[in-house]
Amino acid sequence: MKPLSRAVESMPRSGIRVIMDRAFSMPDCIRLEVGEPNFPTPSHVLEAADKAAREGKTRYTENPGIPELRSRIAEIFAADTGRTTKTDDVVVTTGAMAALYTTLMSITDPGDEVIVMSPSWPNYLMQMTLLGIQPVVVTTTEATRHVPTVEQLESAVSHRTKAVLINSPCNPTGAVINQAQMADILEFARRADIYVISDEVYDKIIYEGTHVSAASHDVDGRVVCIHSFSKTYSMTGWRVGYAVAPPEIAGLIRKCQEPTVSCVNAPAQYAALAALDGPQEIIGEMRDAYRERRDEARRILSSSGIPALEPGGAFYIWIDVSSSGRSDVAFAMDLVDKHQVAVVPGSTFGPGNEDRVRISLATAPDLLYEGMRRLIDETRS
Ligand code: PLP
Repeated sequence: MKPLSRAVESMPRSGIRVIMDRAFSMPDCIRLEVGEPNFPTPSHVLEAADKAAREGKTRYTENPGIPELRSRIAEIFAADTGRTTKTDDVVVTTGAMAALYTTLMSITDPGDEVIVMSPSWPNYLMQMTLLGIQPVVVTTTEATRHVPTVEQLESAVSHRTKAVLINSPCNPTGAVINQAQMADILEFARRADIYVISDEVYDKIIYEGTHVSAASHDVDGRVVCIHSFSKTYSMTGWRVGYAVAPPEIAGLIRKCQEPTVSCVNAPAQYAALAALDGPQEIIGEMRDAYRERRDEARRILSSSGIPALEPGGAFYIWIDVSSSGRSDVAFAMDLVDKHQVAVVPGSTFGPGNEDRVRISLATAPDLLYEGMRRLIDETRS
């Protein structure tokens, strides 16, 4: 037999999935590894999908999404960022994952370089492997609260660099890029003449201050913003996200949809429109619940002498488990096997994170705190 795809074979599996597979076989496992809200999708969103399906909106839609959803997104995006945005600049995708993938596909050719941070969401590197992109990893540190510095970015650039991929608020650290830092990153991108792919799926889950979109500092059309309904409206399984891009890039992203997915599930697009048009209080309610859990989780950790950064956004805590004397993977495996608590090993998020694990605050509070108590016990065993 001829060899199969080297790219797919060489792609590492996400460490999140490896732990999840273990947890699936344990019915009573406390699941602190999953990054999805423990809130139901709002009922008016369910009703909109039901209505759309019953009205026969069950066919293929336009490749980039239904015009009414795209124009509503464009309107909101322009108001939020101040960047002129037309309906055609928006492409509705199968979750933010597909928006990221088709954006990378539209900007790069195999062999091109993209700057990416460590720690960061593992799917970035997985997607780059599939597309033949050469990742150039910049390791962020606690000293800068996990925001990359311009000096670090400058030293990662080569003549092959096409883009830098940023994520604020960040999964897994909760780091938030402020106005001045975003202005500096955009200034750097202009100097280096590279694109900025800005993953902003946690833009509404921010605890202090306000979210700064990369698009609000984009003066010459080099920023693609990636958004999602998954976390904001508790709609992970609906698989709706979108990219907002300068016209030329949006055209290519749109082009990628036809041969890959054709379009996003039609009733789910109507559900997403209902989410945007309906009451928005749910967003603040979920954020306040995560904040309360964040504060209690940090109190539990600090009273046990376990270091963890205070996340400024997103719904994760990045915990230092070096006191356990084990690697992140050995620690996470012991924790799930001995205490039935699933967490994600830090090395899943890139090199240099072998003393960390990530837990998700999007978990029912009683389970979250019980899981943390068992985690603390395991650091001492
Ligand atoms: N970007 C980041 C940083 C994420 O953490 C996730 C999901 O966990 C995604 C993108 C993907 O979101 P979606 O469910 O819209 O594909």
